[in-house]
Amino acid sequence: MKTSLLGATRKRLQAAAAEAGLPGYAAGQVADWIYRKRVTGFEEMSNLPRAARAFLAERYEVGLSSPVKVRESSDGTKKYLFACGGGFVEAAWIPEERRGTLCLSVQVGCKMGCLFCMTGKQGFQAHLSAGEILNQYLSLPERDQVTNIVFMGMGEPLDNLDAVLDSLEVLTGDYGMGMSPTRITVSTIGLVPAMRTFLDRTRCHLAVSLHTPFEEERRRLMPIENVHPLSEVLAELRARKERGQRRVSFEYIVFGGLNDTPRHARELARILDGIRCRVNLIAFHAIPGTPLAPSPREKMEEFEVMLRDRGLLTTIRQSRGQDIEAACGLLSTRELVRARGNPAAGSAE
Ligand code: SF4
Repeated sequence: MKTSLLGATRKRLQAAAAEAGLPGYAAGQVADWIYRKRVTGFEEMSNLPRAARAFLAERYEVGLSSPVKVRESSDGTKKYLFACGGGFVEAAWIPEERRGTLCLSVQVGCKMGCLFCMTGKQGFQAHLSAGEILNQYLSLPERDQVTNIVFMGMGEPLDNLDAVLDSLEVLTGDYGMGMSPTRITVSTIGLVPAMRTFLDRTRCHLAVSLHTPFEEERRRLMPIENVHPLSEVLAELRARKERGQRRVSFEYIVFGGLNDTPRHARELARILDGIRCRVNLIAFHAIPGTPLAPSPREKMEEFEVMLRDRGLLTTIRQSRGQDIEAACGLLSTRELVRARGNPAAGSAE
């Protein structure tokens, strides 16, 4: 198996160029061919000597691969399915009037086991490499319209920290895609040590999945509460006093009758006091096999007002792609079930 150069940082490209007997600046040329011109083979790298191209082609591959399936919603949202890591991952393309957001996956499945998540139900299968993460962007037909990238698809980004950091370096590096870090948001359920590293090493935005301010409730929704309780996550963020352009937001899926009460609003305002942040309220997309239900729209709006009245910058995130298995992990689970030749399990969803 050849090693893929997609996802290679400047350092790795320099090493590959040196192996091929090329001068240092050639790493920049290779990066330009891969990340900007998006070629699929070394023979297309016409400004490199023929012998060096043949040498690279013998040892490496570029590593771009097309999605195997796409589902399009009536609202323009598209879900692309990629085969990698022995399974499938999803990338969601969400076009809006003034921007286009791409949601990337970082793992096949996930080990965190959140009660409300279809990806969690798949269990963990594999980490994606930086190349497999970036491929979801570079092979997207709409890649030139992408203005924002969110790492909020399948998997916990900070559980695959090295690959995520490498992909961020390529996305924001001048030799890579040259995107502003303020256009990129990485989500986490709160893996504190990795979160510290992420905050130290990048300038990208951070989104923390919160979902309830009460420890007992959160433990039932998100087993990570047993390892890194929310209080530890908040203490870390409070101590860092994030300033400048970095935005810290809290993601809050609103479940009917569970976390949308005045008591929750009061406690949220209390625990977030002193942290410069915003709260994003998200409608729950129902998934099979969970007792959780979405909160009605009016209830979500009431909850939004309760939070705003308590001084929290709050928005309700638009729900998109309802007709194409909007819940993250649903499409890939169906595909996995199909690929394993078990249609009965597929229909049980
Ligand atoms: S919500 Fe995120 S961290 Fe939790 S199981 Fe799903 S993918 Fe994993």
